[in-house]
Amino acid sequence: MRSFDFQPIGIIHSCYTEKFGIPRQPGLVMAASATLELYAPYDCPEALAELQGFSHVWVVFVFHQTVRGEWKPTVRPPRLGGNQHVGVFASRSPFRPNPIGMSAVMLEDIQCHNGHCQLILRGSDLLDGTPVLDIKPYLPYADALPGARGGFATQPPENGMTVVFGELASIQCAAWERAQYPGLRQLVEQVLQADPRPAYRIGREDKQSFGLRLYDIDVKWVVHGNRTEVTTLLPHKNEK
Ligand code: SAM
Repeated sequence: MRSFDFQPIGIIHSCYTEKFGIPRQPGLVMAASATLELYAPYDCPEALAELQGFSHVWVVFVFHQTVRGEWKPTVRPPRLGGNQHVGVFASRSPFRPNPIGMSAVMLEDIQCHNGHCQLILRGSDLLDGTPVLDIKPYLPYADALPGARGGFATQPPENGMTVVFGELASIQCAAWERAQYPGLRQLVEQVLQADPRPAYRIGREDKQSFGLRLYDIDVKWVVHGNRTEVTTLLPHKNEK
């Protein structure tokens, strides 16, 4: 059988610096912005001519943090509570024979300086450092299929958590926003509204603490019922 050896055309820089907490599809956390840095020679304005006319693009990428060879014929989608099996080709799991993903994301801007261009994207579901294989314009007449059936995933995932910031977290968040990350509060709210907890920890009665990393910030929160309280946003520390 022939094999194919593709080189990335670019790399994603995003707020998602770890996998935990990344939305499971694009368009779910619109406060998340990402930059697609194009590598030379693909970063020239000619390669992007007329792309600005499209509101969205398909980003075709490599699940680079999924270990090669790790695929199985069936997977257990989080959507089904993580305990029902479906075929890998009936899923959008990163664990696939060829670990290639595709995300339709909003194209917010194309920035070119001294003949080198990058794309500014919104609403992505991509880990920081994701290698990009291709970009294609999203074609509403061909790609939006209103009558399509959605199998076991007909509705968007529930976004049912009420997110509040504790006093300390509010102060810390405002400081991060002033210093480096405008819009951070909205980003944290949207990520946590989607309730990134593993399925087996949802529905438990006890008060539970969790943490995830956005940019270089360790975000900590506690959950009680359907209420999420952000407690701290501290500089990331590598845990040993
Ligand atoms: N929209 C894409 C698709 O359908 O092909 C990706 C869907 S996949 C379910 C999204 C999840 O992949 C994210 O929640 C995150 O956990 C994971 N992910 C994102 N970027 C990744 C990367 N570069 N390597 C490994 N996993 C990644």
